[in-house]
Amino acid sequence: MSEKMRTLTEPFKIKMVEPLKVTTEEYRKEALKKAGYNPFLLKSSDVFIDFLTDSGTGAMSDKQWAGIMMGDESYAGARSWEHLEKVVKDLTGMPYILPTHQGRAAERILYGILGGKGKVFISNTHFDTTRANIEFTGATAIDIVYEEAEDPEADLPFKGNIHLEKLRELIKKHGKENIAAVIITVTNNSSGGQPVSMANVQALRKICDEYGLLLVIDGCRIAENAYFIKHREEGFSNKSCEEIAKQMLRLGDAFVMSAKKDAIVNIGGLLTVRNEELAVKCKNLLIISEGFTTYGGLAGRDMEALAIGLTEVFDEDYLHYRIRSTAYLGERLKSKGVPVVWPIGGHAVYVDAKKLYNQIPVEQFPGQALVCDLYIKGGIRAVEIGSLMFGKNDVNGKMIPAINELVRLAIPRRVYTQSHIDYVLDIFDDILELRNQKTGYKITYEPPFLRHFSALLEKNLK
Ligand SMILES: *Cc1c(COP(=O)(O)O)cnc(C)c1O
Repeated sequence: MSEKMRTLTEPFKIKMVEPLKVTTEEYRKEALKKAGYNPFLLKSSDVFIDFLTDSGTGAMSDKQWAGIMMGDESYAGARSWEHLEKVVKDLTGMPYILPTHQGRAAERILYGILGGKGKVFISNTHFDTTRANIEFTGATAIDIVYEEAEDPEADLPFKGNIHLEKLRELIKKHGKENIAAVIITVTNNSSGGQPVSMANVQALRKICDEYGLLLVIDGCRIAENAYFIKHREEGFSNKSCEEIAKQMLRLGDAFVMSAKKDAIVNIGGLLTVRNEELAVKCKNLLIISEGFTTYGGLAGRDMEALAIGLTEVFDEDYLHYRIRSTAYLGERLKSKGVPVVWPIGGHAVYVDAKKLYNQIPVEQFPGQALVCDLYIKGGIRAVEIGSLMFGKNDVNGKMIPAINELVRLAIPRRVYTQSHIDYVLDIFDDILELRNQKTGYKITYEPPFLRHFSALLEKNLK
């Protein structure tokens, strides 16, 4: 208990700094107006706290930077490749290791081989690049989480779990020969970074064995997920997070990873498989599209930093700090009266903007209004995950809103200190004061696909 009461301190000290520009509210109003009220179009130098994503935005350690200098840039069989291969084999227990330039390249290769018209992929939730790579092959992607997981307030330990009963129904419906793979995403990024239990993956393995299905683990945040298992699932409190991750990965037939997440590097990805025949197919595609099998689109120095990051991420003090510091932001927001998705996930805090700005109709994007206010008030950049991102128009041009209007505050790894987070909490005090006098937004330009990246908006002042 006494430990819980202490200030949460970063288990590192700072050796190199990147200055942040301090701007005024007037300056930010102008900058945001120029960016069409879309923070994706802001210059990062105009952003004070950048919570846009946790992908590729982490801070590397002194050891990783030293590794950058030690990288072996030989075309084939580089020392840095040997190092990476050894670390990943040890972690996954899989014999075939393929490096890629980032996660979606691993997905394109694997799902390009497994997919095709008439094939079905089933997952707890397909991440957007996962779904896009599957659908690009003509295959179908189906998400199955438990109903409770879609309720932002349901206080459950493993809201990322895949719905096992629905999986059986889908196998019967589509026929096991048409199921290309089952993909378990840990933690479940698209549903709030919620963890998946070991029991869920064990049960999933049994079902896959029963029907002869391939089980893929999308383990971008395998270390963060392991921390949740250690602290929430019975029987794991005495195991290290690394042991837990190894145990989970041994249940899979293949593993894909964006190293920009839990390997704490700025670029990189991994694909590993257990089956030789599948490995050969993947390697052939890798050579055509990414690079030779011992570098796959990465420089030797990138592989060196990746190998070191994938080891460092399992440091228990780091993981404790990582998960607890994300929870710190979420818990404090909740106690101020800011509605947040509960419980707090691993890499981000999600604010329920529909509840916070309940006077703004969903057609006027309450999530985007909050995103704009966070930038104007505090120079904080966040992303709307609501109707601007997922909304569609019906035949009469009327908007079909998303299920939820959320704003994601994604926390880069080892980048911000507690005082930065306390600053963000202060800005939310201003937001709470202003919550009743907010205007919504309307779209003035939208591209045909993925409109949230480049849409232009203006204030809806009527
Ligand atoms: C980020 C991410 C990916 C894609 O990885 P990139 O490195 O961005 O290409 C795939 N799956 C999940 C769960 C992710 O979070």
